[in-house]
Amino acid sequence: MGYERSCLLCGANFTAVREHGKYCTQKCQYKSWTRNNKGKVNEYARKYRTSENGKKVLAEHYASQKFRDRITAYQSKDAYKEQKRRYVASEWGRLKARQYTRNRKARIRANGGEFSIDEFISIVKAVDYKCLCCNQEFGLTDFSVDHIVPLSKGGLNAIANIQPLCLPCNIKKGTKVIDYRKDIFIGGLNL
Ligand SMILES: [Zn+2]
Ligand SMILES: [Zn+2]
Repeated sequence: MGYERSCLLCGANFTAVREHGKYCTQKCQYKSWTRNNKGKVNEYARKYRTSENGKKVLAEHYASQKFRDRITAYQSKDAYKEQKRRYVASEWGRLKARQYTRNRKARIRANGGEFSIDEFISIVKAVDYKCLCCNQEFGLTDFSVDHIVPLSKGGLNAIANIQPLCLPCNIKKGTKVIDYRKDIFIGGLNL
């Protein structure tokens, strides 16, 4: 018993229980509803994102290993690399990059301080090529310069305010003030 139909959304053939059944599953029915009610869906999502609970859940999600793994998997795809290459080469991408460099330089000028690449290299060597946050070993070029007190919070661009972190750890740290060098004596360097 039932009505032979093809799903209005995915096109799959199915047997509807009711005469006016249009979708093969509840999932398809729900998907179709969200497509036709984008305004409501966006409004609801916006309200959730800006609520206290939503903010907390999102922050936890972004800090989770699952999220990091997903980003890593996504970024290793050729399609992503190609898209990124195109963005970097585009006029808009170049403009953005120049703007970023300019802003960063201005901040460094305003905050003061300077260090040489040799100083940075000697810190990386002193910590045995291990990221101070995740303790994994990396090659020299995989290290990023992390400002312990971020430039955006007035941190000095001097070696005393700098620690070597791998890029994922640097991104995860964001604009928080965390000194991972604590209790580590870095030989010869007066930090
Ligand atoms: Zn369907
Ligand atoms: Zn790390």
